[in-house]
Amino acid sequence: TAALARAESLIRTIPDYPSPGIQFRDITPLLADAAALRAVTRALIEPFAAAFDVVGGIEARGFLLAGAIAAEAGVGLVPIRKAGKLPRPAASVSYALEYGEAAIEAHDDLAPGTRILLVDDVLATGGTIAAARELMTTLGAEVVGTTVLMELEALNGRALAGDVHALFVI
Ligand code: IMP
Repeated sequence: TAALARAESLIRTIPDYPSPGIQFRDITPLLADAAALRAVTRALIEPFAAAFDVVGGIEARGFLLAGAIAAEAGVGLVPIRKAGKLPRPAASVSYALEYGEAAIEAHDDLAPGTRILLVDDVLATGGTIAAARELMTTLGAEVVGTTVLMELEALNGRALAGDVHALFVI
């Protein structure tokens, strides 16, 4: 749609951030625009209508989208955080980064079988989403889908992350 095309045009590319050679996709101009934020929020959940009980936002930019999705869909929100940020993490999953390793954690506040939709801003190598999926499954939730604003297709993130709904593919 025109609204989504306009939203995509508001994603800005910052060369050499956070390190030389990286083209950083910056979604803050999109977030600052009311019509664009509304359009992407609706499009992110469109294939999953009524199929999820809670949205899982991946730190940090996934939180921003998860809040909008929770309000739009009338569901609750679970933060999936970087290690060491939550007061009472129930599970932790480590995954590989380009250089080194990271871990994500979550609380155990969901009833078994709760249907969760995962959301993040960007699918790159897929490691983050694969780890989030494993984390939620470990905690007894049922991951019904993953939705992202943007997929960096050349990195083949779906090989690790599995099926992902991506609004914009570059
Ligand atoms: P992956 O684990 O390699 O798929 O990396 C995905 C994570 O890195 C997501 O949480 C993104 O927020 C972040 N990320 C990777 N590339 C970009 C980018 O160009 N812009 C914003 N975030 C990015």
